[in-house]
Amino acid sequence: MNRRKLLQSLAALTTILALPARAASAKPKLAKSKDEWKQLLPPAAYAVLFEHDTERPGSSALNDEKRPGNYVCAACNQPLFDAAHKYESGTGWPSFYQPLPGALGTATDYKLILPRTEYHCSHCGGHQGHVFDDGPKPTGKRYCNNGVALRFVPQGEALPALRT
Ligand SMILES: [Zn+2]
Repeated sequence: MNRRKLLQSLAALTTILALPARAASAKPKLAKSKDEWKQLLPPAAYAVLFEHDTERPGSSALNDEKRPGNYVCAACNQPLFDAAHKYESGTGWPSFYQPLPGALGTATDYKLILPRTEYHCSHCGGHQGHVFDDGPKPTGKRYCNNGVALRFVPQGEALPALRT
């Protein structure tokens, strides 16, 4: 197979694989334009949440956060993870083995050629990270999250109102 044919086959395969994932992923409930989000969020958070950027590993203060509480979406405040499900993955990104029920949607992304499953907040659609199958028991999942896309709310503190 020559290079061109190979690339064409890869492109076709990518299209076929991408379709069901896109179709299955529900539309976010909160619809704001990228321009609106850009005005509401700090540049680093905006870049991760709405331009699929990835923060530098080890750069988030949330890596060392060990208190009980909840992690909410930095864009819309929807609770995404319980701190009880956070663990030290050694990757330099805050990692969880389980999200809160209904908090996330997923899609397949091909940014690194090999498909990865990206996940996002089900309320605003903001990109949070990628999920892998090398996590701890009981789920075996590793939700590798950008810290800048989350905000930590310690136990006992009121959760912020959901953005509308
Ligand atoms: Zn959100």
